[in-house]
Amino acid sequence: MSSHQSPFQSPQSQPSPPDSPNPIRQQEVTQLLKQVIEPTLKNDIISLGMVRNLRIVDDYVYLRLYVGSHQHQLQTEIQTALSPLSWCKKTYIQLCTIPGVKIAIAVSSGKGGVGKSTTSVNLAAALQLTGAKVGLLDADVYGPNVPQMLGLGKSEVQVIDTPQGKRFLPLESYGIKVMSVGLLAEPNHPLAWRGPVLHKIITQFINEVEWGELDYLLIDLPPGTGDAQITIVQESPICGVILVTTPQQVAVSDVRRSVHMFRQVGVPVLGIIENMSYFIYQNGEQTSIFGSGGGQKLAEELQAPLLGQIPIDPRICAGGDLGEPLTFSEPNSPVGEIFRQIAGAINKTFLSDFFY
Ligand code: ADP
Repeated sequence: MSSHQSPFQSPQSQPSPPDSPNPIRQQEVTQLLKQVIEPTLKNDIISLGMVRNLRIVDDYVYLRLYVGSHQHQLQTEIQTALSPLSWCKKTYIQLCTIPGVKIAIAVSSGKGGVGKSTTSVNLAAALQLTGAKVGLLDADVYGPNVPQMLGLGKSEVQVIDTPQGKRFLPLESYGIKVMSVGLLAEPNHPLAWRGPVLHKIITQFINEVEWGELDYLLIDLPPGTGDAQITIVQESPICGVILVTTPQQVAVSDVRRSVHMFRQVGVPVLGIIENMSYFIYQNGEQTSIFGSGGGQKLAEELQAPLLGQIPIDPRICAGGDLGEPLTFSEPNSPVGEIFRQIAGAINKTFLSDFFY
């Protein structure tokens, strides 16, 4: 992918508005909201999935605005955009942000073991190498191995008092702020959260970490696209999801399902990263062990950009075990270069006003 190409893709289909007692007003409001443009992404706030839970009750408009800490001005712009509505007595906007966090991106996969956490860690490393302030939230309750991958093994998490209540203090590794559900589990009592409690805990968790100022927060989700994953994504101020897959057919069909599900709930799919795409021999030759072209075909079919294809590299595994991501230890390796390219494209799309 060229770095000029935006990894950002608007959702193909908008979520159908909830049953509204007045669909005409609902449509009228949606049309006006579509005139509010996010200046960096140059797209409207409806297509970007920033407006959720839009409801019109009597002559009042209620909505939630999911944005980054640098996008609060959109609130005023919405009020101005809706001011021509003669029937509207007042617009109530609930601003949903993670304090101090500009861009939150979820990393997801249809199933476990495809390299989702490896991708989260190396992408965080690549973004950090561009000079961005990066946080990584490991919300993978089934395999919270991000701390291990960043050399934070069994570190203790501190809780501090803030004016807003108790907050978890993130750990730090290579300049990346890290918090993991794994660090909260008691030894020998792996996280037994299931179903409905799971999403509540994680959503609450996302908001209870004292991140400070961050350009990016990557959220490593639990694998799968059950209700819990969807709700976490839907109820968090994330600007979209990156999906990780492998070329194997089963994983690929999982991703297809994921893309449809995220779009159905109005969460943009930023793109697909195909992991373990090929193997590079010492002489530089490449071979596709699991078959080739799957990622590209899928990206075309789903109209979601293929952000990168990561080769199989035993050093990724070793780096994970040693707690030193390959993108940090060998930024010029093929793996490091691909992650840095993806990071560059993400910067260009989301923070071009800050970096260029
Ligand atoms: P997930 O988060 O999807 O469950 P992980 O990131 O934990 O998957 O990766 C599973 C295993 O595969 C780990 O041991 C990791 O080191 C290894 N792995 C992931 N990606 C690669 C790759 N491109 N090359 C070699 N090993 C990899």
